[in-house]
Amino acid sequence: MSRIFSGVQPSGNLHLGNYLGAIRNFVGLQDDYECIYCAVNMHAITVWQDPEALRNNTREVAAAYLAAGVDPKRSIIFAQSTVAAHAELAWIFNCVARLGWLNRMTQFKEKAGKNRENASVGLYAYPNLMAADIMVYKATHVPVGEDQKQHLELTRDIAQKFNNDYGTETFPLVEPLIFGAATRVMSLRDGSKKMSKSDPSDYSRITFTDDRDSIAKKLRKARTDADPLPETEEGLKDRPEAANLVGIYAALADLSKQEVLSEFAGAPFSTFKPALTDLAVEKFGPIGEEMKKLMADPAHVDAILKEGAERAAALAAPVLAEVKEVVGFIHP
Ligand code: ATP
Ligand code: MG
Repeated sequence: MSRIFSGVQPSGNLHLGNYLGAIRNFVGLQDDYECIYCAVNMHAITVWQDPEALRNNTREVAAAYLAAGVDPKRSIIFAQSTVAAHAELAWIFNCVARLGWLNRMTQFKEKAGKNRENASVGLYAYPNLMAADIMVYKATHVPVGEDQKQHLELTRDIAQKFNNDYGTETFPLVEPLIFGAATRVMSLRDGSKKMSKSDPSDYSRITFTDDRDSIAKKLRKARTDADPLPETEEGLKDRPEAANLVGIYAALADLSKQEVLSEFAGAPFSTFKPALTDLAVEKFGPIGEEMKKLMADPAHVDAILKEGAERAAALAAPVLAEVKEVVGFIHP
């Protein structure tokens, strides 16, 4: 059976982009794949995380998976740091990946900003750990948002180089699964930037914990141009903010962008934004509510994470043993 791996960083501010681009897609895949869903807390600490907040946010990622409909009986839900094999394989991949490959990663450039000398080494090596997350289960498919495409190509390069260098067929070549109507949700404040947990502006994103009032306020303040909505998708060209809001509506309503435009052609944003608020409250609101309910019982979430860690570790162990044998590590 093909195997899915995916993860979300517990860096706080879980948002609508994480839901539409990734978490929502996790649910249906359970019917056709063996699924492993991780709260990637080792990735989160590549930038500073307050320890108490990190613990809480790790449970929150698990709660978000559960609230969205991931079934912990069928799928594995666990925290990355609880399965040591990820870090062990990541070290080996640090020795396979080339500096030149990592130098091309746009996420590092964006996150490190101008003060690159001061970025953590972990932020730089992040894609190697991500490759290890996936390959330690020999996962074949990874559901992610558009922004992770480059990292998955790197995962393939690392797997291929490992196989070539050692003359084995240890690792499969993984395929990204980037699908749904909103693979790249943009910031509400700037249509050229993706919606992110790490954006300093809370008004840039709709989060799992937002209630109706804050969703309404954020959408009211969302940047747009002054024109009414066009009749066709062609009319959204060069209107990134308008295209983003129409895309969000389409994804939440399970419609195509064209269908949304057919309904709202000629409408001003003062009509469209309240309609989008109602839709977001109806479709996204209950998931946030359920996440909050689950967070009221951390022991329940922890029990799921613990069981998930045991199941994940059992799957990772033989792969790591095989890799160590191939590399020539002794086991006296
Ligand atoms: P950070 O700013 O801390 O990197 P993030 O919002 O990018 O946070 P991640 O934890 O890095 O979130 O990513 C989790 C998943 O959500 C990934 O599959 C990623 O591709 C997806 N994702 C993140 N942002 C968006 C977005 N704006 N639109 C669609 N998918 C997204
Ligand atoms: Mg990210």
